[in-house]
Amino acid sequence: MPDEIDLAQAINEQFLSDALAEHQRNQPSGPAATLCEECGEEIPEKRRRIIPGCRRCMECQTLLENRRRCR
Ligand SMILES: [Zn+2]
Repeated sequence: MPDEIDLAQAINEQFLSDALAEHQRNQPSGPAATLCEECGEEIPEKRRRIIPGCRRCMECQTLLENRRRCR
């Protein structure tokens, strides 16, 4: 069943590229954001100094990490 194999392959590749994109999104890069990229709230300067390249406020980061654990 070559068609089924192709489909499985396609799904697998899609999954991998999604996982990679997700991984890259979660990698801190460049300077820390002043505003949370999730909710747009200002990220406290203290947090930005502790976590270089952080892009989310503590609330959104916590939510994100909880979501990832549940998967
Ligand atoms: Zn936020």
